[in-house]
Amino acid sequence: MTKLFDLSGKTALVTGSSRGLGRAMAEGLAAAGAGIVLNGSDEERLAKAVTEMGSAGYAVRASRFDVTDEKAIIEAFDTLDSQGVAIDILVNNAGIQFRRPMLELDTADWRRVVDTNLTSAFVIGREAARRMAQRGYGKIINIGSLTSELARATVAPYTVAKGGIKMLTKAMAAEWSELGIQANAIGPGYMLTDMNQALIDNPTFDAWVKGRTPARRWGRPDELAGTCVYLASAASDYVSGQIIYVDGGMISVL
Ligand code: NDP
Repeated sequence: MTKLFDLSGKTALVTGSSRGLGRAMAEGLAAAGAGIVLNGSDEERLAKAVTEMGSAGYAVRASRFDVTDEKAIIEAFDTLDSQGVAIDILVNNAGIQFRRPMLELDTADWRRVVDTNLTSAFVIGREAARRMAQRGYGKIINIGSLTSELARATVAPYTVAKGGIKMLTKAMAAEWSELGIQANAIGPGYMLTDMNQALIDNPTFDAWVKGRTPARRWGRPDELAGTCVYLASAASDYVSGQIIYVDGGMISVL
């Protein structure tokens, strides 16, 4: 049974894994045996993450690129090819948040959020899947959100991007399942990361999250690891196009 979740011999690229949820999922995949390619845009933060995970005994390397830069993405995959690194598991995790009411929202900020949170998953997914298809094997895990289902004021481009992630996951499943590639998504609830620091520090918002979440608390980044390992492993080989919410029950209740 445990072999079902064994990722020995597999290599996973996790975008936006220098910190936060990406870092926690990378550690979960590494603990299950996968070699890890960490990614981020900030060189120093990425190098620190590589050092820390390397010191913990994990096989880890860095691939620094901006997920909105298609040229840099293609170069990064070419470099991995030339190093003989084949990506078996891709976690499209990199993302940003930007809070502003739509009546005051600039088009450039709309585009920046959609490019970072949605278009990146298509471009990086396509580059990974072209290579996975040649080997007839691959696992793609896109990171959605509760806003994949529900809107919230002041985060329209994020909501649209995460709704798009849910449907991109289904589109990937529609076209790539027959190639031996499973695409699924994870929808995290409110998690304790830098992205939410201002909300965590706001007593009114903190009380709202705890009141609205049946588990009565924020999620810890490491609580995504199990779902990520499941979707990356043989345990999910006939699961395609799904989004699994890891949210302390928030999306199930009014
Ligand atoms: P953090 O802000 O803590 O971390 C974001 C990560 O993404 C960093 O490693 C950052 O690296 C990287 N990143 C951001 N922009 C780029 C870019 N253009 N190119 C490359 N890397 C980039 O975010 P979280 O860990 O909280 O969020 C991770 C994902 O989970 C996002 O997609 C987010 O939308 C989603 N999510 C988060 C939730 C939460 O409650 N925290 C809830 C639901 C979904 P660097 O600093 O180097 O740019």
